[in-house]
Amino acid sequence: MYENEIAQIAAKGSNQEVYNGLLQLAKDAMQQRGRIQGKKKIYYISAEFLIGKLLSNNLINLGIYDQVAEALKSHGKSMAEIEEIENEPSLGNGGLGRLAACFLDSIATLGLPGDGIGLNYHLGLFKQEFENKLQKEVPNPWITDKSWLRRTDVSYPVMLAGKKVNSVMYEIDVTGYDNQCNTLKLFDLDTVNDTIVQDGSIYFDKENISKNLTLFLYPDDSDYQGQLLRIYQQYFMVSNAAQLIIDEACAKGSNLYDLPDYAVIQINDTHPTMVIPEMIRLLNGRGIAMDDAISIVSRMCAYTNHTILAEALEKWPLWFLDRVVPQLIPIIKMLDVKVKEKYQDERVYIIDQEQRVHMAHIDIHYGYSVNGVAALHTQILEDSELKPFKDIYPNKFNNKTNGITFRRWLLHCNHELAAFITDKIGEGYKKDAKELEKLEAAAGNAADLKKLLEIKSGKKAEFKKYLQQKEGVTVNENSIFDVQVKRLHEYKRQQMNALYIIYKYMQIKAGKKPETPITMFFGAKAAPAYTIAKDIIHLIICLSEVIKNDPDVSPYLQVVMLENYNVTYAEKVIPAADISEQISLASKEASGTGNMKFMLNGAVTLGTEDGANVEIHQFVGDDNIYIFGESSDAVIEHYAKSDYSSEKFYDDDEEIAKLVDFIISKEMFAVGDKKSLIRLYMELVTKDWFMTLLDIKDYIKVKEQVFADYENRGEWAKKMLVNISKAGFFSSDRTIEQYNNDIWKLK
Ligand SMILES: *Cc1c(COP(=O)(O)O)cnc(C)c1O
Repeated sequence: MYENEIAQIAAKGSNQEVYNGLLQLAKDAMQQRGRIQGKKKIYYISAEFLIGKLLSNNLINLGIYDQVAEALKSHGKSMAEIEEIENEPSLGNGGLGRLAACFLDSIATLGLPGDGIGLNYHLGLFKQEFENKLQKEVPNPWITDKSWLRRTDVSYPVMLAGKKVNSVMYEIDVTGYDNQCNTLKLFDLDTVNDTIVQDGSIYFDKENISKNLTLFLYPDDSDYQGQLLRIYQQYFMVSNAAQLIIDEACAKGSNLYDLPDYAVIQINDTHPTMVIPEMIRLLNGRGIAMDDAISIVSRMCAYTNHTILAEALEKWPLWFLDRVVPQLIPIIKMLDVKVKEKYQDERVYIIDQEQRVHMAHIDIHYGYSVNGVAALHTQILEDSELKPFKDIYPNKFNNKTNGITFRRWLLHCNHELAAFITDKIGEGYKKDAKELEKLEAAAGNAADLKKLLEIKSGKKAEFKKYLQQKEGVTVNENSIFDVQVKRLHEYKRQQMNALYIIYKYMQIKAGKKPETPITMFFGAKAAPAYTIAKDIIHLIICLSEVIKNDPDVSPYLQVVMLENYNVTYAEKVIPAADISEQISLASKEASGTGNMKFMLNGAVTLGTEDGANVEIHQFVGDDNIYIFGESSDAVIEHYAKSDYSSEKFYDDDEEIAKLVDFIISKEMFAVGDKKSLIRLYMELVTKDWFMTLLDIKDYIKVKEQVFADYENRGEWAKKMLVNISKAGFFSSDRTIEQYNNDIWKLK
């Protein structure tokens, strides 16, 4: 298919022309494929879709990637250099947004009618630069003249603070793997004006809503205007969504009373919660009695909880909502009254005594499904965080362990490994990930294991080259690649990994050199207003510098902080990783999806019994994962009793104190910012909310074991093989099949 077109495009002069040609070809091919049809449709509403670059992924799903790559090669070009042309649309922060993107891929791949609904942020997540070893945030425009976006003439009126604006809907086609298309629908305002972002700063006039509404992904919400803007964005998103859903259902013949036969809404975290009162308001406006409207909407909406971190559970002061969406206030108050009439338990109220609106409580009372994102996470929701709700609605709760799309996280990012697997077990796994299990038996001989190690070495060499040209950093491709890439957050405990670096540095200084040199990679953006997270980035960069400057240590240990970690970077570094660092404080990481990407690419996990690590552990068995640290039960108990004191660990244990003290040593002050280092030191010693010092010694012990075991490459290769073979469960195709069977019930 498309042979002539592809040949013509490949023959074009510049990479830009080739890219433009392929972009148009893929868009045309997706149009020709047609839309996935069906009476009932899933609308996945999400404030984030971290879709990453789309060219290669779309070509793979269209089945023409190999053909294009061949044609390019015959003209002396490579797919990699063409990919460089595309900007990454950073319409998400991290895991939650990436999950939404993986889900869209799987929904289309399974042939289910389902669209994503979100916002067309003009700048997306900031671009991270390092300056003086500190994170600097730079605006990150991604929309170019020619892009995947298609402007439609769909437009809806939305009332924001009593003023009417008219939206405009853009679409991006989402092609299933060997299937037809769905769409990602992104709403925007024509009046939004990129030029109000001045001097490359991400700080801007937050009051001018018509100009700034969709300028940024989740603007900094550390102040009042930032929070208000977030409510504006959320309401704009869901009002458009609700109007679209009603229109589409009516076009298919709905009389509105039967809306749940036409539409199901998955509410991705609490950001789209206002879709519930908005939909009720709209139905009521079309003449449907209030109780009927509530019943209709409650049978359409399902909610996914993504975190138990208190600060992430949205609670908006009622008067904030009143300023932005006065039209919803009577509905929200009525929904709250109905709850209060039925239940006397304050913990389940929608509006609390301080007049704050608990968004998750709206979802739980007025949706028909509540799911967590990994077995442990759902268990914690049921047993503690949301227990009062579980008691009221025992049947609403269910688990849907997250997944990742294997098209992007294996077929696209690791062609060599995919080819090896295909050679061993055939193509079946591409559509049925469970078939990966066959690999363990099919590839267990010495020659296959050697091949697996060679593929890993190849990806490490490739990543070394990429790093060299991208960051000007040279790494030793024969070292162990130990990788922690994810958002910077204290609960993810990059600071604990940093303390390990200090430990290793001191060991090497004392003459205990590792058998194989170690390279520690970090990649992480910190929220602009999250001071301690930025201090941790500073700490890591300072350690990198101290080690680089020390000839006693630098041949054996290197620390690399990747600049601007994003989906594109993830696709490069994950296939090259030997060790996957998943070291969150047990109970705090709802699922994690990075852990799954690493496993699928043959890295071995070093982690706590947290999130989906628990399930990874069950699948691969004790011998093929490294687990350390206190259990989630123990941690939850520490919080309940408030009996954890980092100061005590620091005072009572000289070895721990030595590691922490190094943060404020003269070596560190010589390269770093004293104020930042002292602040972080104080935080660790006096607060340490995420219990770094509780687990640090066990972490060091187990990590040493990992490095020791790595020396037996044959045994290590077996661990890699088991991890790859057992990764099938973590395909988002499986996750989506479960959402469909248990919640959406399409087809
Ligand atoms: C997968 C992914 C994440 C999520 O990683 P976790 O380790 O699960 O937090 C974050 N950012 C990017 C760019 C990703 O691709």
